[in-house]
Amino acid sequence: MPDIAVYPGSFDPITNGHLDLIQRALKIFDRIIVAVATNAFKKSLFSIEERMEMCRVSLADYPTVSVDTFDGLLVKYATGQKARAILRGLRAVTDFEYEFQLAMMNRRLEPEIETVFLMTGLRWVFLSSSILKEAAVHGGDIAGMVPEIVFRKLREKFGLK
Ligand code: ADP
Repeated sequence: MPDIAVYPGSFDPITNGHLDLIQRALKIFDRIIVAVATNAFKKSLFSIEERMEMCRVSLADYPTVSVDTFDGLLVKYATGQKARAILRGLRAVTDFEYEFQLAMMNRRLEPEIETVFLMTGLRWVFLSSSILKEAAVHGGDIAGMVPEIVFRKLREKFGLK
């Protein structure tokens, strides 16, 4: 049985921080499913189709990484995919509280699935999708923080040349 991890998130949009985490996780897991959340409660800049497309293009070189979407209960989705683990990233201490609650809730709902945390690469410790959007909307130079397709899509979205 291959070791499969589900990496859930909004990916609004995917950044080099997410990619760094996936590259690390590939040393541990045979397959990774990037599971883009439809997000009933969170407003996203990009549609689910746009977010998935950016993930797919950015991860095209990784044959053992697939991109999917899910709604409803994450642990149910992960079980359906025969995943052994949920993968999450930690940047600073501020991530801890929320990630801790989420992991505990998921364990309570499905004790068979473990949450695995990996530390971000130091270069990306400051990088979040929301900070990135904030910088991009004001014309900040975000090259080098995101894959090429995301760079283009953000500039398109905000009407920048
Ligand atoms: P969510 O809305 O579920 O927090 P995100 O797309 O923002 O979704 O993040 C998905 C996961 O990726 C989270 O575990 C988050 O901590 C992690 N992550 C986001 N940015 C980085 C980064 N720069 N380095 C490492 N992990 C990150």
